[in-house]
Amino acid sequence: MTNLLIIGPPGAGKGTQAVRIAERLSIPAISTGDIFRANIKEQTPLGQQVSAILDRGELVPDSLTNDLVADRLQQEDAKNGYLLDGYPRTAGQVEFLDGVNAERGEKLHAVVRLVADKNEVVARLLKRAAEQGRSDDNEETIRNRMDVYDRETAPLVEIFASRELIVEVDGIGEVDEVTQRILEALSGRGIQ
Ligand code: AMP
Repeated sequence: MTNLLIIGPPGAGKGTQAVRIAERLSIPAISTGDIFRANIKEQTPLGQQVSAILDRGELVPDSLTNDLVADRLQQEDAKNGYLLDGYPRTAGQVEFLDGVNAERGEKLHAVVRLVADKNEVVARLLKRAAEQGRSDDNEETIRNRMDVYDRETAPLVEIFASRELIVEVDGIGEVDEVTQRILEALSGRGIQ
């Protein structure tokens, strides 16, 4: 059983790294952002509810997000653990996840904190906007997502630090290099 989170500012490379790390550890990488985007694309009721919120770079209400994660964690592939990418993002979500873990009779094992300079991540997001055309990758929304991160999500690092769960990794460098750093840091905590 391996229950992990990956946390860091938008553009730090969480999504890319989450998929690679999860594969190595044989657990699913679960990205709430990906789930929302898939629902928007398929025009589901949830997608219609959250589309404008994502476009503004704001957070989807905790009630919706928490239910989605609770459902996802009940799926078969998550029975041996999970790597959550982009969740939790608020103190309320941390509390909810604590409840889910308690119900499962489990706990978190580590929180990978991807560290990246703000100017660097903004540049990366603008590049991704040009390449992939994500509708929330325009300059104004990027700025808002950064503000939301600083205000709502960055403080969560303190919560996890007080639980001694933080594994800090430099997110700047080649993708392979960063993956290697994360795997080594996790292995240092007995997670492999
Ligand atoms: P991401 O792909 O993780 O950058 O997420 C893209 C967008 O989805 C965010 O800007 C939010 O609008 C929404 N979102 C993703 N995860 C969450 C979450 N845990 N809580 C609230 N909103 C979220």
